[in-house]
Amino acid sequence: MAGIYLHIPFCKQRCSYCDFHFSTQFKSYQSRMVDAICKELVERKNETKEIIQTIYFGGGTPSLLEAEELQEILQTIQREYQVDPLAEITLEANPDDIIPDKLKSWKEAKVNRLSIGLQSFRAEDLAWMNRAHTAEESLRCVAWAKEAGILQISVDLIYGLPQFSIEAWDQQIQTVIDMGVQHISAYCLTVEEKTLLEKKVEAGEIVPSNPEEQADQFQYLIQKLSQNGYEQYEISNFCSPDNYSKHNTSYWQGKTYLGIGPSAHSFDGKTRRWNLSNNPQYMAKLEKGEQFWEVEHLSEADRFNEKIMVGLRTKWGVSLHDLRAIHEIPASFSQKVKEYSDKGWVCLQSDTITLTPEGKLLADWLASEFFL
Ligand code: SF4
Repeated sequence: MAGIYLHIPFCKQRCSYCDFHFSTQFKSYQSRMVDAICKELVERKNETKEIIQTIYFGGGTPSLLEAEELQEILQTIQREYQVDPLAEITLEANPDDIIPDKLKSWKEAKVNRLSIGLQSFRAEDLAWMNRAHTAEESLRCVAWAKEAGILQISVDLIYGLPQFSIEAWDQQIQTVIDMGVQHISAYCLTVEEKTLLEKKVEAGEIVPSNPEEQADQFQYLIQKLSQNGYEQYEISNFCSPDNYSKHNTSYWQGKTYLGIGPSAHSFDGKTRRWNLSNNPQYMAKLEKGEQFWEVEHLSEADRFNEKIMVGLRTKWGVSLHDLRAIHEIPASFSQKVKEYSDKGWVCLQSDTITLTPEGKLLADWLASEFFL
């Protein structure tokens, strides 16, 4: 089992580009939400008898949890599930929350990995994205986390902003390299539906960066991180030797997981289940013993396509053996492998298909070409 994902649906303010599930009006029910999450953990304990290898607090902003709330959730997991003593326990944290008192409480709670939503070191970018933290907080948070003894650190960066030069991007990447973090996730800014960014683009207030510039920044990132000893093990994820995110790697390898909290998704190998993306409804239904989730039974085609979609994004690629175990591989599939190998976009070796550096620029489209 990949482990347990916990969705903490609170944020201080709304980042302009974000379409995740969260609320900024949460103070009045924060502790009730924590109780609801613990109740869900207890109710679902029989869904797995496997040893939990990873626990991941995502959101939203899990670093807004009070120390006692984090302890309560982790103690519930320890009490109700079998947890590997060496389990990876990751907390997503924003730089403004990374302060000595909180770091101490996270360490005491046995959090051993921070995933920091750093995004940028430049004040103008942070203001543009409506992030709640300052450039100074971005610059100091990694050193403070290390001083507190949290040694596994991942940072998120965003590129592809309008009027974002390669020089500016180079400085951002160099700064995280100099910080000596083990893991970097870098995402290209996209205009998602119902975000502040979409409204501004529609109103003509913002002109998005063009795809060629974004592709240049992506290639620059890959080259610079590779020169500095980071391996690109997933399209958007890089790490120093062997410092993979165990939790996310399990998703990409198709392992099962439990998703707890509003909007969280779970996967048991054959079905996908997701909780209501509405905080009051999630809590109320859970408290009343009513159904707070929906479920979808995945067809063979769904599982085949999903394996390609996530597998092709990783350095491990997609094994034809694994695909055959789900569904017979059609003849058109082999023709496409040949066609895209000849174009230099995919590589077939020992029964496994991976993307070449050129293919990584077309990852989502290439994956869809192989779908049933
Ligand atoms: S802090 Fe994270 S989850 Fe919250 S609005 Fe910003 S990007 Fe979205």
